[in-house]
Amino acid sequence: MGSMIGIDLGTTNSCVAVLEGDKPTVIVNSDGDRTTPSVVAFTQDGTRLIGVAAKRQAALHPDRTISSIKRSMGSDKRITIDGTSYSPQGISAMILKKLKKDAEAHIGATVTDAVITVPAYFTDAQRQATKDAGTIAGLNVQRIVNEPTAAALAYGLDREENREVMVFDLGGGTFDVSILSITSGLIEVIATAGDNHLGGDDFDAALVEHVVKTFKKQEHINLRKDAAAIQRVTEACEQAKKELSQSDRTTINLPYIATAHNHPVHLEMDITRQEFESLCAPLIERTMQPCRQALSDANVDPHALGRVLMVGGSSRIPAVQNAVKDLTGQEPSHSINPDESVAMGACLQAGVLSGSVGGLILLDVTPMSLGVEVKGNKTSIVIPRNSSIPTKHSEIYTTASPLQTMVEINVLQGESQRASENTSLGTFRLSGIKRSMQPQIEVTFELDTNGIVHVTACDKATGSSADITITGSSNLSDSEIKHAQHALESGE
Ligand code: AMP
Repeated sequence: MGSMIGIDLGTTNSCVAVLEGDKPTVIVNSDGDRTTPSVVAFTQDGTRLIGVAAKRQAALHPDRTISSIKRSMGSDKRITIDGTSYSPQGISAMILKKLKKDAEAHIGATVTDAVITVPAYFTDAQRQATKDAGTIAGLNVQRIVNEPTAAALAYGLDREENREVMVFDLGGGTFDVSILSITSGLIEVIATAGDNHLGGDDFDAALVEHVVKTFKKQEHINLRKDAAAIQRVTEACEQAKKELSQSDRTTINLPYIATAHNHPVHLEMDITRQEFESLCAPLIERTMQPCRQALSDANVDPHALGRVLMVGGSSRIPAVQNAVKDLTGQEPSHSINPDESVAMGACLQAGVLSGSVGGLILLDVTPMSLGVEVKGNKTSIVIPRNSSIPTKHSEIYTTASPLQTMVEINVLQGESQRASENTSLGTFRLSGIKRSMQPQIEVTFELDTNGIVHVTACDKATGSSADITITGSSNLSDSEIKHAQHALESGE
């Protein structure tokens, strides 16, 4: 086995770390930065740009730039540029390949294996898509680890005394909160909740909306009609947001943002932290509900938490920190760079798997309940949410009517009692069931350490089980992965 790396494949930024001795070290990329924007762009002459170069040209070519692809992982979305269609896995693989290359340049050796993190709230399809992206990038993905768990490892919480810890992770596009229990070096995720569509991008969008509206009022120009202008405003708003984490006010300055009557129009706008905070108050409130849910699922009083870790770039926003402080009654910890702790933890987990780091056990839970659809649009849960993984559980079902020889099994993920309100991971058929008044069908769910689901069904009377594999419609087949690998290599 070659070297193994830990990767935080983020919505906005990604980060890669490697063990030096038994210490995780964040790798500086070929641009001299410790994180790499998760952005891919295709120039008109066919060159592929990844990272800061792609982000830089986004303003000029928004239609040729792909960002926040993590939000589409696990979906069947395709992005077509110059007649070529790309899957979210294929785009993520381009980012992973760059991280792999940067790591190889740093180590001076080939990297073959990786541990990649995902938000704890990611569904099966999203985890599988992440694993596929790693495979396309030429990595053996040894483990998919939840981001908050990785953060706890980076903080060395496994070496601390027994207690319950909350990890609040607000990144660029996703929000996760987990309650971990630490007992004699064992880290167990006891509850997790979150929002796959909430992060720093939304804070940027709230500020952009405010700037565009104010500018329209002042200048009677709608910047929304100009994609390049909006891209510039978005970048300036992200910068302003970051500055407001340090100071009480900032100025957005964008010369030549538009023209009116053949004259250039400039944008100059003061924003105070207070204004920003009131624009973002609904977003901050949206982070509180999953916190309350995770605490209640874990049966932990917020004031009894041993520690609160702040992870993800957006956890630097003072109003976010204050909200967490109000909820838990304690000062949250952010001594490790919130952009780097997840990659560092992933790399520690890689060290555990390769045997170079000892004395650390990780237990994860499944973030959502898994079950099957039964008569009357109902969900029957086979594995409840927050069960430790890996796990295996079986339930016996019968057919909807007597003498039925075939059943269609709809595998569901989610918390609703109504089947139609949950996510269908896939359906499969078990045929050749022995005719009887009440056939007994055993359905077995198996969840592996990566949180990926395998389901089988068996007719108890005959013992015969159909050959069943769940392949979500968005997942890639082996030949699609090979094709994407080939496309990735030929495009370089
Ligand atoms: P991550 O995905 O963890 O790298 O987080 C990236 C997000 O954090 C982006 O939306 C950034 O704009 C945001 N971010 C980074 N630094 C700061 C800061 N100082 N204040 C507010 N947001 C920040």
